[in-house]
Amino acid sequence: MRLVLLGAPGAGKGTQAAFLRERNEGVHVSTGDIFRKNLKEETPLGLEAKKYMDQGALMPDELVLKMVSARLSEPDAEQGFLLDGFPRTVAQAEFLEKFLSEHGKKLDAVLLFGVDDELLVKRLSNRRTCRSCGNIFNLLAMHEHDDKVKCPSCGGELYQRDDDNEAVIRNRLKVFHDQTEPLIDFYKAKNLLKVVNAEAEDTPEMVYGRVKAALNLK
Ligand code: AMP
Repeated sequence: MRLVLLGAPGAGKGTQAAFLRERNEGVHVSTGDIFRKNLKEETPLGLEAKKYMDQGALMPDELVLKMVSARLSEPDAEQGFLLDGFPRTVAQAEFLEKFLSEHGKKLDAVLLFGVDDELLVKRLSNRRTCRSCGNIFNLLAMHEHDDKVKCPSCGGELYQRDDDNEAVIRNRLKVFHDQTEPLIDFYKAKNLLKVVNAEAEDTPEMVYGRVKAALNLK
């Protein structure tokens, strides 16, 4: 499938992409992950990205679009992709539409994960990623409060992303409301938008059930 996962930071896009990836619905393309990988490897793109990521601001479209078109042109994206964190502006969405139509393709659906801002702040400040297997966890859901807890999947070390601190989180949410939310109407007008409820008490598995229902998957 060719899907866009749309939602504020912390809404669960990466977690749901992992479920869909497991059933081979497409490659998971997370622009944030690609920037973080570049940063770790200290490439020029990574060092440029750091300036924006540290503040929770968006990277210039020009850089993002070059990177995304290269990624979507790789053979593994031929059968399908799950876009996570892209597009984030109307200009990016217009680019994606043009890019796909030039390749004779189109999106199957856009999933919108709706979550309340205060819940997102709480979730993101408790979000941890495993250094070894890359899985994402939430200390709240694990009923853990200290950072010494190990990865439940592989025992690896858990770390907190630099941009998951409250000041940067609030800015990322503001950026989402100002620059990304217009995409809701953009995709609604194209009849592609499917709203998935992803509230506090819901487990990732419950949300995944709604994702499958929205996409008519068994
Ligand atoms: P994410 O992991 O999706 O929350 O992205 C982390 C950071 O990477 C964002 O706060 C932006 O600085 C940058 N970023 C990721 N995707 C995009 C995008 N599509 N457009 C602009 N900046 C992006």
